[in-house]
Amino acid sequence: MDTRWSRRSLIQAVGATAITSATAAAPVLGAPDPRRVPRGGWDAIVVGAGTAGLPLAIFAAQRKAKVLLLDIADTTGGTLHVSTGQMSAAGTRLQQARGISDTAQEHYDDLQRISRGTIDPMLARLAVFNAADTFDWLMARGFEPLPGQPVNGEAHEPYSKPRYYWAAEGGRAIMKLLQREVQAPVERGLVSILLKHDVFELLHARDGRVRGLRARDDTGTLREFTGRSVVLATGGYTAAPALYQRLTGRPQYINMPYRHSQGRGIELGLAAGARLRGIENYMANYGLVLASDDQPTSLFARPQDFPQRRQPWEIHVNAEGRRFVREDIPSVDAREQSLLYQTQGRRWIVFDQAILDAAPPVLQGFTPEDIRGAFDLHPWFKRADSIGELARAAGIDPAGLESTVTMFNYGVRTGNDPLGRQHHPLPIAKPPFYSIKTQATSVTSAAGLAVDESLRVLHEDGSVIPGLYAAGELLGAGALQGKAFSGGMMVTPSLTFGRLLGSRLLPT
Ligand SMILES: Cc1cc2nc3c(=O)[nH]c(=O)nc-3n(C[C@H](O)[C@H](O)[C@H](O)COP(=O)(O)OP(=O)(O)OC[C@H]3O[C@@H](n4cnc5c(N)ncnc54)[C@H](O)[C@@H]3O)c2cc1C
Repeated sequence: MDTRWSRRSLIQAVGATAITSATAAAPVLGAPDPRRVPRGGWDAIVVGAGTAGLPLAIFAAQRKAKVLLLDIADTTGGTLHVSTGQMSAAGTRLQQARGISDTAQEHYDDLQRISRGTIDPMLARLAVFNAADTFDWLMARGFEPLPGQPVNGEAHEPYSKPRYYWAAEGGRAIMKLLQREVQAPVERGLVSILLKHDVFELLHARDGRVRGLRARDDTGTLREFTGRSVVLATGGYTAAPALYQRLTGRPQYINMPYRHSQGRGIELGLAAGARLRGIENYMANYGLVLASDDQPTSLFARPQDFPQRRQPWEIHVNAEGRRFVREDIPSVDAREQSLLYQTQGRRWIVFDQAILDAAPPVLQGFTPEDIRGAFDLHPWFKRADSIGELARAAGIDPAGLESTVTMFNYGVRTGNDPLGRQHHPLPIAKPPFYSIKTQATSVTSAAGLAVDESLRVLHEDGSVIPGLYAAGELLGAGALQGKAFSGGMMVTPSLTFGRLLGSRLLPT
C-alpha cells in the first residue's frame, strides 16, 4: 500500500465537511415522501443513478425488486454525459453477424497481456465473461454502434480481435437508452428516483449490517432511507482535486471528468471499514496541450501521436531536455508508460522551421495556420532563434536539450538514432525553433473499493461488510485495467456490474 496516505487522513480529507454538517443538522431529519416508500420497504437503495446505477434498477425491476435511486445531480446518467462511451465485449451477436470469432477468454487474455498481469483476475473475469450479454441487450434496445464496428482500437493498446464499439453520440447514446428503459419501471412504481440528494452517511444495524443511509436534499433537509441492501455506485474521484492529489500524489490537471465524480463512495466505504486498493496502478495518457496552467483546466489540443496515423517528425523531450521514448514506437502503452516516469509527467514536442513547413499538422484537427497562430497566443507554445533560448523560454534544461538535438541530428544523418527511431526525415537545424508543452492527464480513478465476486464490499481484513455492495468506477480502474488503459474497460464493466447486481446478485 502507498504510504503517502492513511485511512484516517483520507477519511478526514474527503469526509470532514459532510459529516460535520450532518451532525450539526441532525435534528431536522425529514422523512421521505411516504407515497414513494413501497410496501415492505426498498429491496435496494442505490447511491448514484449513472452508468452502473441505471441498469441495476432496470434489471432489478424485472425481478419485481423495489429500488430507490438517489443522485446528487439534477439529472440521471452520471459520467455518460461526458464519456466517450467506448465499450468492449467479446462473443457478441454483432461480432457473429460480422463473421468475427471471439471469446470472453480471449478478451481476458488480452487484458492480462496489455496490463502485464496487473488486473484483478476475479473482477476482470466477472466483467468480460458477462460483457456480451450487456452489449447484446443494449443492441436489442436500439443501441447503434458506428458503421464498420467492432474494431480492434487504436487510442489504447489494440485488442487482438475487433471487439470495441461506440456510438456517434458517445456516452450520451448509452445514457439516453438507459433513461428510456428506466421509465417503465418508474411508472410501475418499482423504481423511484430522487435527484438532488447528496448521500453522505451510511446507517448500520447493531450487528454492523448496512441498513440504510442519510442524504441531504438541495434545500438542506436531511433524510433517512432504509432497505435490505445499499449499493454504492457514485463513480470515481477525478473531479475532486484534493482527493486526487492525496491518492495519486499528482494534481488533477484536467477538468473533463463529470463534476459529481467527487469520491463520495470512497468516503462512505472507508467510513464503513472498507478496503481501498489499486492506487499503484495509476495511469495517465501520453500528454495533452491544456488551456492554461490552472489546475484543473480544460483541453486545448490533442497531439497527433499515433505513428499509425502520422509518423513523427519532431522529437519529444522531458524537463531535462532528454528524449525518453522512440517517438515512432507503435505501442501506445509504451509511450504512456514512458511518460509516467518523467518529471511531472511533462513532455515537450520540439521542432524547427523546416519541419513546421513540411510535416502534416502535429495537433489533431489543427491546420498549419492554426498551429502557427497558437505560438502568438498560448503560453505552452514557444518559439526562439536558438535551441538554448527555446529551452529557457519553455522551462526545459538548456544543456540537456542542446545535446539531445545534436544527437538526434546525428541519428538523422547516419540512420543510427540512439533510441532506434526509424522515421526522421529532417534534422532540427533551421531557426526559428519551436516547442509545445504537453501534460499527462487521467480521467479515471485508479483506486477503488475491494469487493468479492458478488460485488459485496470487503473490510480491510477481507471479510464482507454485510448489506453493502459497490459497482462502477468506484471499484477502481486499477482493478479492471491494471496499470494500463484497455479500451472500453470502464463503461462496459460499470453497465455489466449494474446489470448483474440487478438481475441476480442482490438479494430480494
Ligand atoms: C471524458 C471521459 C471519457 C471517458 N471515456 C470512456 C470510454 O470511452 N470508455 C470507457 O470504458 N470509459 C470511459 N470513461 C470512464 C467511464 O465513463 C466511467 O468510468 C463510467 O461511466 C463510470 O460509471 P459509474 O456508474 O461508476 O459512475 P457515474 O456514471 O458517474 O455515476 C455515478 C453517479 O453517482 C452520483 N453521485 C456521486 N456522488 C453522490 C452522492 N454523494 N450522493 C448521490 N449521488 C452521487 C453522480 O451524480 C452520478 O450520477 C470516460 C470518462 C471520462 C471522464
